[in-house]
Amino acid sequence: MKDKKNRLIIVLGVLAAVLSIVVAIYKYNTKVNKIKSNIDEQRAEINELNEKREQLENISDIANRAKEEAKEENTVEEKKEEENKSEENKDDNKEESNKQERKATNKSVIVIDPGHQKRGNSEKEPIGPGASETKAKVTGGATGVSTGQTEYNLNLKVALKLRDALEAKGYTVIMTRTTNDVNISNSERAKIANEAGAAVFIRIHANSVDSSSVSGVLTMCQTSSNVYNGDLAGESYKLSKAVLNNFVEATGANNKGVTRTDTMSGINWCTVPTTIVEMGFLSNPEEDELMATDDYQDKMVAGMVNGIVEYLND
Ligand SMILES: [Zn+2]
Repeated sequence: MKDKKNRLIIVLGVLAAVLSIVVAIYKYNTKVNKIKSNIDEQRAEINELNEKREQLENISDIANRAKEEAKEENTVEEKKEEENKSEENKDDNKEESNKQERKATNKSVIVIDPGHQKRGNSEKEPIGPGASETKAKVTGGATGVSTGQTEYNLNLKVALKLRDALEAKGYTVIMTRTTNDVNISNSERAKIANEAGAAVFIRIHANSVDSSSVSGVLTMCQTSSNVYNGDLAGESYKLSKAVLNNFVEATGANNKGVTRTDTMSGINWCTVPTTIVEMGFLSNPEEDELMATDDYQDKMVAGMVNGIVEYLND
């Protein structure tokens, strides 16, 4: 009897062990199946996303082709317009005399003008080709209210950093000056850019006004009715806008917009797209101090580089 009982207990024990193993295997299998079906679902999602991406790529291809076709049409129209214009201007000697020789621009060449110089030159020069109105050849620029830094020196510092950053990107950079002790008028600076056939002529300045509370960055270019180079106003505005927006993005500076003016000799003498960057206000103590730091200078330079690259790749 005892033996039988013992055997029964052993058999039951073995059965229980087998049962628990079977249950464990079943649980394991259902887990594996669940994971497998999850993977399948994710695969299906990935496939769906890939299909969508392909569709989007096709759409952007079509859009790009349409853009290029539109561009080609525009250039044809522009050429026609130019031909018409040159016909109209043939007999107009007065207008001819205001027009400077236009060189083809070189997309990889950028000219940087660090505004002002150590000693201003109050001798006068015409504000544009053939103009009777004159202006001082070049002034000394502003001074920081808090740091006492001179604008001509700040402009040069930032401009040299901008040169290095653009050269690192493979551009050919020409500086109108690399020291403060020079004597180059605003029209002469523009002529350096013209002569180089620059794709971009960027002029580095800092601002100053009577009020110490005004702060922020602005860029400047000509209007489309500029008698000397109004035909470049569209390109100059595009450049000014791209540099301004990227500058604001990189620095967080107050955006004071693009100022359009035809009173600047350095703009009027240009035969290439140009922008003046008024980086910040030396009359504002905080901005004056900020602009004196390497950290903020690097941010300003990064913004200007991004703007130039965006403009040139547009
Ligand atoms: Zn200035």
